[in-house]
Amino acid sequence: MATGGYRNGVHKAPNLRTSSSFKSKLPPSNVRRSTPASLAAAADSVSGRVRVAVRLRPRNAEELVADADFADCVELQPELKRLKLRKNNWDSDTYEFDEVLTEFASQKRVYEVVAKPVVESVLDGYNGTVMAYGQTGTGKTYTLGRLGDEDTSARGIMVRSMEDILANISPETDSISVSYLQLYMETIQDLLNPANDNISIVEDQKTGDVSLPGATVLEIRDQQSFVELLRLGEAHRIAANTKLNTESSRSHALLMVHVKRSVSGRDDEYPLETQNRSNLVGNLRPPMLRKGKLIVVDLAGSERIHKSGSEGHMLEEAKSINLSLSALGKCINALAENSSHVPVRDSKLTRLLKDSFGGTSRTSLIVTIGPSPRHRAETASTILFGQRAMKVENMLKIKEEFDYKSLSKRLEIEIDKLIAENERQQKVYENEIERIRLEAQKRVAEAERNYVEVLEEEKMKCQMDYMESIKKLEEKWTVNQQKHAINGEVHTRAVNEEVAELKTMLQNETRLRKAAEEEIQNLKAQLLKFSKMELAGGSTDCLSLPEVLEEESRQKKKLEEEVRVLRSQLAQLSIEANQARSYPDNGNSGNPLLGLDCFTPLNHLRSRDGSNGERASITNLHEQVGLQKILSLLESEDANVRIHAVKVVANLAAEEANQEKIVEAGGLTSLLMLLRRYEDETIRRIAAGAIANLAMNESNQELIMAQGGICLLAMTAADAEDPQTLRMVAGAIANLCGNDKLQTRLRSEGGIKALLGMVRCRHPDVLSQVARGIANFAKCESRASTQGSREGRSLLIEDGALPWIVQNANNEASLIRRHVELALCHLAQHEVNAKDMISGGALWELVRISRDCSREDIRALARRTLTSSSTFQAEMRRLRIEV
Ligand code: ADP
Ligand code: MG
Repeated sequence: MATGGYRNGVHKAPNLRTSSSFKSKLPPSNVRRSTPASLAAAADSVSGRVRVAVRLRPRNAEELVADADFADCVELQPELKRLKLRKNNWDSDTYEFDEVLTEFASQKRVYEVVAKPVVESVLDGYNGTVMAYGQTGTGKTYTLGRLGDEDTSARGIMVRSMEDILANISPETDSISVSYLQLYMETIQDLLNPANDNISIVEDQKTGDVSLPGATVLEIRDQQSFVELLRLGEAHRIAANTKLNTESSRSHALLMVHVKRSVSGRDDEYPLETQNRSNLVGNLRPPMLRKGKLIVVDLAGSERIHKSGSEGHMLEEAKSINLSLSALGKCINALAENSSHVPVRDSKLTRLLKDSFGGTSRTSLIVTIGPSPRHRAETASTILFGQRAMKVENMLKIKEEFDYKSLSKRLEIEIDKLIAENERQQKVYENEIERIRLEAQKRVAEAERNYVEVLEEEKMKCQMDYMESIKKLEEKWTVNQQKHAINGEVHTRAVNEEVAELKTMLQNETRLRKAAEEEIQNLKAQLLKFSKMELAGGSTDCLSLPEVLEEESRQKKKLEEEVRVLRSQLAQLSIEANQARSYPDNGNSGNPLLGLDCFTPLNHLRSRDGSNGERASITNLHEQVGLQKILSLLESEDANVRIHAVKVVANLAAEEANQEKIVEAGGLTSLLMLLRRYEDETIRRIAAGAIANLAMNESNQELIMAQGGICLLAMTAADAEDPQTLRMVAGAIANLCGNDKLQTRLRSEGGIKALLGMVRCRHPDVLSQVARGIANFAKCESRASTQGSREGRSLLIEDGALPWIVQNANNEASLIRRHVELALCHLAQHEVNAKDMISGGALWELVRISRDCSREDIRALARRTLTSSSTFQAEMRRLRIEV
């Protein structure tokens, strides 16, 4: 213990470094740790010895006078940081300090070497203590507490510390608060609130930290408010001391500055552990809070220890006044000697300064001395106090912790933001889901619709294909059946028919032969008569013969003349007819054109203008010449005459008004005769046309039948090649087919076969008439069946019309198609025909008609027919056809 030291030697603390600067060799960054102070282990702390500077006050006015003849009791060697304390004129003790400040040292320099390092540590999150120790009047308050009102360069450590702190913090995140206290006779008074005159110290059981919860804590925003606060504190101190009848030098003043700084941003500011944790929780790194506390202690005058009661105080009082100071000395001694017991709890001051000596604080002590040799003992004591304090080692610890409060606040804001964002996104998400759902629904519906359509189409197509192939198979089967039945019934029927035909031909031949024989007999008889006359009368008759011949030739000439006149008239008529034909649109429409139940085959031969022209001429002619005459010309030997005559008759027959007259006059018979007699196709064509026109009338139809017309028409149908001839014949038969009464006879006389035979000519006009005939026949037949006047299967089917009907059910020509479709529908209405229709392939056509026919009524008729027939129904079920 360097209590005395060596004569002329250097008093040096054992662990004192020979550093040339008082300023810490450990810059704040070097003492940073990786954990907050609250978690820090002892190993994290850094050793920091209490730094001690000595300051010599210049001689005051009194000393200048009183000590004028004496040298100062100390001699300073600031460059060596040494102080020599004179014992006498020849002897002195030398002490080394961290800093030696002469009487000339400026307040700025004192601040910089003593307090600035501590202030910097506080800003870095350490506790810091600056304390002045010394005899009253040596400049403790001057060093620490000068406000510098008159002379700014005189500003003390308190003012300058605050200036430094304020300059280094950011007001948005950091805060400074201050308490200002006085400790007198073990009582702590609040210098910021004098009413608060007994503040108790509270110690944290866990950490051992001391705090003064009762003290006023004021927030500092600027230097001005701080200076005002100091001024106020000083005023209160004076007032309190007056009240207590004491001096400020007997009390200790403590300024406590709490600096809270928020550390954010740089990763290296954070402990490693925190960084790792931060990565896990994303950006939610809790901010670090550094809480440095600066205590500036202006101690009571140290002289009291030795001169207690010397200034009129009672000893006990003096003891009490100095209890804290002496306890401080004892603690420092114990710490300096590394004693196991440090009597911290002995006084309030030592409790308050627990962290400053032997704790975690960076501590600077300035010991102030005066130059006067009269106070040499006090000065020596002060120097020794400083020397002992230099041996106190503190373990600096950063006061750093997570700022959970601000983190929670930040998190709360963050959470609120996230909740709002989440809600927004949830809504967007829901809307999107709804949109997608609707879209999907729409697409599914569309796909389903398309699918159903395609399926329906595909089904239709398949059914049609299926129908087609079944139809072909059935056809093949039928052909095979027919082939196999060549020796069977079919063959027999064909032979029978052939035999019947041959029989008819034979009958005809026989009739013709009989007629020829009769003629021969006649001729023979005449010849015999003539021979007899010749033999008996002889010459008389021979003489009269030339006269007879002459009379005959006259008659002939007269007739020839008549014929010539008629020819010229006919020629005239032909010209007029041609002219009329060239302007077909003149005049009215005349007879109706082709329809389902009417036929006007000669409309191309006659004018459409029924009121004038040809008809008028024909009427004239017919009136002039007489119908009888014209009809007789049909039998003229002259072919031209016959042709002209038949044309005239045909034209007349086109008029309904003439038809009766023609028939009455035997015209029908003559026309039929023409069919029978003449090979000339023109005549036959025109005759057939005339007959067809006459056949439009019901009573004529019966007459035609009665006179064997159907046979003649059938013969003509078999012989003729000209499509127009066939068209006329087919038209005539078709008209006859429409008569309910003639059905059986028409068929038995070969009418149906004749119709079917004509289809060899593929001319659509012919086919159209054939189809009309078949449709007419089927209709009458159907009516008769419905009325019950006939039974058994259709004669059309009997006569083999079905294959042609089926073949032409879908004929390109709409007129043909329409007749055939109707014929099919009529046939299908009778269950008795169903089997044949099925085997003949008619069912397929009926199905097609029920689906495709452009005429709604026919379509409906076909459908009705199909659904009402049980045979068709069964077959359709078998074939899996739906209607
Ligand atoms: P203490 O607080 O130690 O009792 P003070 O600070 O009150 O002493 O100082 C006593 C007197 O000495 C004051 O008048 C002060 O102005 C003056 N004084 C102290 N130190 C100095 C100095 N370094 N330079 C000039 N005057 C000083
Ligand atoms: Mg003072």
